Amino acid sequence: RPRGLAVALDEVTAEYFADQPILDGLSLHAPAGKISVIIGPNGSGKSTALRVLAGFLRPSRGEVWLIDGSSRTSIGAGPPHLRSGLGIGYVPQGHSVFPAMSVYDNLLVGAWPIRRERRRARRTIQELFDRYPVLAGKRGAAAGSLSGGQQRILELARALVPDPAVVLVDEPSAGVAPAVAATMYQELEALRDEGRTVVLVDQDLRPALAIADVVHVLQSGRCVSSGSSRELGADLDALVRSWLSAGGD
Ligand code: ADP
Ligand code: MG
Repeated sequence: RPRGLAVALDEVTAEYFADQPILDGLSLHAPAGKISVIIGPNGSGKSTALRVLAGFLRPSRGEVWLIDGSSRTSIGAGPPHLRSGLGIGYVPQGHSVFPAMSVYDNLLVGAWPIRRERRRARRTIQELFDRYPVLAGKRGAAAGSLSGGQQRILELARALVPDPAVVLVDEPSAGVAPAVAATMYQELEALRDEGRTVVLVDQDLRPALAIADVVHVLQSGRCVSSGSSRELGADLDALVRSWLSAGGD
């Protein structure tokens, strides 16, 4: 069973250009062993928040914490490969398979954090093939030849190779067939039920809120509301309506 790790952003400011923060003092806590869902209009900073958690973007202010029971470690300044060593897996938004490489080799790329443990890497990849038979049948095929949905599953599987305690997933169902999307949400619940911490960014509110333990609502790089979907209730409806009328998502 993975260790029950939580992650948190504490007053994180991040920008791509010095004068314009994308995250503007963002604080949020993703509790251990739960599914946290980050929602918000287009451009509100959801993907940026995940990139900061994954270590691909360094915050200019604030802290990123990895929390293990009562002890916490600041991981704001560490490089991404260290994050995966710490147990954080990341599935970025959009397409991220290496199309010319085989399915198996894509999974081997995911084994980088445990590359010194070759036997363990081979065993985990085999377990992932057992878990996702659709990938097993295509292990030698070029990843680019898979359907969009199969590629999303491959991206998730690749993030799982080091057996992360925390899994960050950005828009897993964007552009995939409904049946694959349903599988993806079931899979996120299964990962949670195994004791992992899941942080999900999603534009598709209905399925995301259905599996959410905690919801964080982002607006202009700040968290304007947090709680269970039930706690947010009417607030959430009002927010979503306001985004729709503003032309956001
Ligand atoms: P979301 O995922 O909520 O749609 P993002 O975090 O992707 O939002 O983006 C937030 C803002 O940051 C947007 O205004 C976007 O244009 C800008 N942005 C995102 N990525 C980059 C980048 N690599 N360089 C410059 N600006 C970016
Ligand atoms: Mg995004």
